[in-house]
Amino acid sequence: SAQLSNRVQQIKPSPTLAITSKAAELRAAGQDIIGLGAGEPDFDTPEHIKQAAVDALNAGKTKYTPVDGTPELKDAIIEKFRRDNNLSYERNQILVSCGGKQSFFNLALALLNPGDEVIIPAPYWVSYPDMVKIAEGTPVILESSADTGFKVTADQIRGALTERTKLVVINSPSNPSGKAYSRGELAAIGEVLEEYPDVMIATDDMYEHILWNGEFVNIVNATPSLKDRTFVLNGVSKAYSMTGWRIGYAAGPADVIGAMKKIQSQSTSNPASISQAGATAALNGPQECVTEMLKAFHERHDYVVKALNELPGVECIESDGTFYAFPGFQGAIEATEGVNDDVEMAEHLLNTAGVALVPGSAFGTPGHMRLSFATSMDNLKNAIERLGKALKT
Ligand code: PLP
Repeated sequence: SAQLSNRVQQIKPSPTLAITSKAAELRAAGQDIIGLGAGEPDFDTPEHIKQAAVDALNAGKTKYTPVDGTPELKDAIIEKFRRDNNLSYERNQILVSCGGKQSFFNLALALLNPGDEVIIPAPYWVSYPDMVKIAEGTPVILESSADTGFKVTADQIRGALTERTKLVVINSPSNPSGKAYSRGELAAIGEVLEEYPDVMIATDDMYEHILWNGEFVNIVNATPSLKDRTFVLNGVSKAYSMTGWRIGYAAGPADVIGAMKKIQSQSTSNPASISQAGATAALNGPQECVTEMLKAFHERHDYVVKALNELPGVECIESDGTFYAFPGFQGAIEATEGVNDDVEMAEHLLNTAGVALVPGSAFGTPGHMRLSFATSMDNLKNAIERLGKALKT
């Protein structure tokens, strides 16, 4: 067999996609599986967005676009940043990519040299450390717990900064914890980062609009002096239920954005032209669809968190947003024979209860499980009932 690169041998496939496909496999084999592993909204993409894509298709917008996105979409993004975030950018400070995932990937490849350190608070989105490794950087993971709302402190960040630190990553509201940093918490982190002018910052705002507790702020809002070394990453996947369209975007200093564009020009080129037309309609169009989905997520959240806390050996703090709960399962793990950790607990629950959850160690925080409530209330009630039975026996 082929001798694979060191690069690929250092990384693992996305564990969230893995659990989703394991659940699909069992389902295909005839088992009744409730999938609470997926990181995508269960709603259809709103009609006016689909229509814009159909119109683009019919108008023959089926050709290459500029690598970094159509002028229409870039302008819609610039307007979105002005409207929602009070941030102003020029077109050469914006790069549209094939999903938020590619935005971060381009950033890692554009910034990192071998050994450069990237500070990543845990629990983290599963892909950050592996993308850093592909770029031959070194992930530096900071731990947090339910006691601190799964957030890291400014002091923790100060303690992790070294001469080799190139980038600090903040994701708020967070996948998987559902927690969001307050303006004060971000300002405290910002104050530390002001002392380290060579360190870049990535704020992943993908869940900006799926937030019910408090108002959205990112680190640039909290500490405006950091703007010219901060990359704001966002996309349409979660807010508009457009995960399959593959549109994400980045805003930041023009020189690095230009370097990211160069990388993209030699890998995927532009994101799909039709998807870009849909994303333009999403950002420029009515925003009620976002509010409606938010309302459903909030209701399901309230149900799920309460119900999880009633399960033996399970403790769950409230999320501020997203469609995830991140309960601690340590008590249940200790009480279950043959189960020693969260990975075995996930397998146990999939096999005995037919419920698919993602183990917390995938996000750097063992002893927990991520439950996605981007599914119907009926499914959630059914899943909780099954979990109750599985954890008692
Ligand atoms: N950032 C976070 C925190 C996410 O949870 C996700 C998706 O799971 C992404 C970015 C990337 O989203 P996509 O590549 O689907 O646009």
